[in-house]
This record gives sequence, C-alpha cells and structure tokens, in this order.
Amino acid sequence: MGRIQHAFKTQFRSILVGMGARCPDKGVNWLFARAAKLAADSCISETDALAHVAEKLLEQYARALLTGTRHADKPQVFWCDAGLGGLARWLRAAGYVARWEEAIDDAELLVRAENENAVVISTDSLLLERRSVVDGRVRVFWVPPACGVAGQMRLVLRRWNLVPREPLCMLCSGVLDRVDKESVRDRIPPRTYRWLDEYYVCRGCGRLFWRGTHWQRIRNQLATLCERKVAP
Ligand SMILES: [Zn+2]
Repeated sequence: MGRIQHAFKTQFRSILVGMGARCPDKGVNWLFARAAKLAADSCISETDALAHVAEKLLEQYARALLTGTRHADKPQVFWCDAGLGGLARWLRAAGYVARWEEAIDDAELLVRAENENAVVISTDSLLLERRSVVDGRVRVFWVPPACGVAGQMRLVLRRWNLVPREPLCMLCSGVLDRVDKESVRDRIPPRTYRWLDEYYVCRGCGRLFWRGTHWQRIRNQLATLCERKVAP
C-alpha cells in the first residue's frame, strides 16, 4: 500500500471510530472497494476516488453531528503544517484560530500542537506515523495534497461540522475590533476611504482591515463551501 493510500486508510479509520463503528477495519475495506469501483466506473484516478469517498464519509459524519447522535470534539486551535499557509488564512477568515509558520519542521509542529491541545492539519502522511500521533497525544487531520485549498477547507469544515463565524485577523488569528473611521483615516488608502465606512484593527498585530472586494470574495467562497448563507 502506498503512502497516500495509507493516509486515507488512517483517516477513514479515525472517522469511522468517531462515528462509533463497531468494525472500523471492515468499514475501511468497504470504503476502499467503493473507491476502486468509482475509479473504474468514472475513469478517475484512485486518489481522486478516495478523496471523493472521504468527502462523502465526512458529510455523513457531519449529518450525524447535526442530528446529535455524535459529539464533535471541536478543536479550539488548529496548527497548519508549513505548506498550508493558505488554509490557515481561510480558517482565520472563517473565525477559527489557526497557527502557521513558514519554516516549521514536523517535530516542532507536533510539540507546539501538543502544548496547545491543537489539531494539526497536514498533507504529510508520514506525520501520522509519529509516536505522539500514534499514542493519541496529538490529533492530526490529514488532507490530500491534490485537492487544493478550497477542497481542504471543505474537508476541515465537514470533519468538525464547523460554520463560518466572526472573522479573525487573517495574519495572526487576533480578534478584530471595529474602529472609528476618522481615527484611522491616515492609514486608509484614499480610494478605499471614499467607498467604505467599516474598519477593524487587530488586537494581536495592530493591522488595519476593511471588508473590500477581496473580503467579499472569500466570504462568498466560504458560503459556497458550507452551502449555507454567511453573514457579510
Ligand atoms: Zn493580527
């Protein structure tokens, strides 16, 4: 079994256990057989078929959470691996604390996550074999590298049945405070000043934010991912 297949196997197993499956290994085999059939019938790669099966499984899991049959142990903090800076920004835009450091190595990532009781999100399937992960001290949610930031975000939202909430600073996960426009006038580009009235300053890094077209695009994409309406 290749690395990617192994990662899917671990992911399927952890979701099935979370769903209370009595025979998770049997379930994993069944999901692999389903993916193999899907790949053959639809002429797609085995990896794409496994990603599709994973998404369906997570949808099922999310429905179980919604109907209250299972409880999601919702993470308070996410630690994204070095390659997932884009996903960290999306998570913050959706209101979730997401840490990310450009050059952090896997060992350091796991230590930081353990200290904060954070969930690590990673595309590196080898991380699943680290001792602290196997022991259950650190939770790792593996996402397929090929599914892009939107696909990865959709999987994370499904996994814990998360919905977008008040956005956090996209750079540092800090809380954003609404500020009086005139008090920050010298920091606003003149064109933006003319058409926008709402401005926010991050409590963490002090950066000024406004909800321009870029912001609207992100919120619309989040709404599409969740298939529900998100407050502007
Ligand atoms: Zn900030």
